[in-house]
Amino acid sequence: MEGMTGKKTVLERGLLEVYTGDGKGKTTAALGLALRMSGHGGRVAIIQFMKGWDSYGEIEALKRIPGLRHERTGTPDYVYRGQERPVDRMEAERGLDLARECLGGEFDLVVLDELNVVLDFGLLELQPVLDLLRSRPFHVEVVVTGRGAPRDLLEAADLVTEMKEIRHPYTKGVVSRKGIDY
Ligand code: ATP
Ligand code: MG
Repeated sequence: MEGMTGKKTVLERGLLEVYTGDGKGKTTAALGLALRMSGHGGRVAIIQFMKGWDSYGEIEALKRIPGLRHERTGTPDYVYRGQERPVDRMEAERGLDLARECLGGEFDLVVLDELNVVLDFGLLELQPVLDLLRSRPFHVEVVVTGRGAPRDLLEAADLVTEMKEIRHPYTKGVVSRKGIDY
């Protein structure tokens, strides 16, 4: 496939995927897809929201994947619903700007990790995000992850997976584990 830039694209038609729900596996599924697309020589951008903490294992691992762009936005602090700070909104806007840049056609796959949470918390308005996703070039696949995906986003999506928690060690007091949860 020839993209607008004249470079080869992996997909003829990219779809909008949403991974949501309260069970484990949304972000790691998106990272797995990034790995798969990269293996076909596809260009991948991963923009993470509300992930300013520096200890995620993927930060170092993603540096080793050629042609992959990884951007993180947010602060290291936990954001409490109803107590969002101006900096949280600014970081969300910065993420949206990065998303706009990466959705221009240069990348075959764009992952917007935890964007659902950003929308659910009201850190960004939904309409501009929907407009941006809908106006992307044909060949670009987008994955939006995070709990609490807004209904209108689910309706716009071609693929929706809900990770449903059946059991999670967290409920038995097991704290988040290196290499597994971060
Ligand atoms: P992962 O990043 O492991 O794929 P996720 O993206 O589905 O998980 P998030 O909703 O983004 O999960 O949650 C962030 C963190 O909380 C992750 O470290 C994840 O492992 C952990 N987590 C996921 N599900 C639960 C749960 N039901 N209870 C407690 N912690 C959870
Ligand atoms: Mg996640």
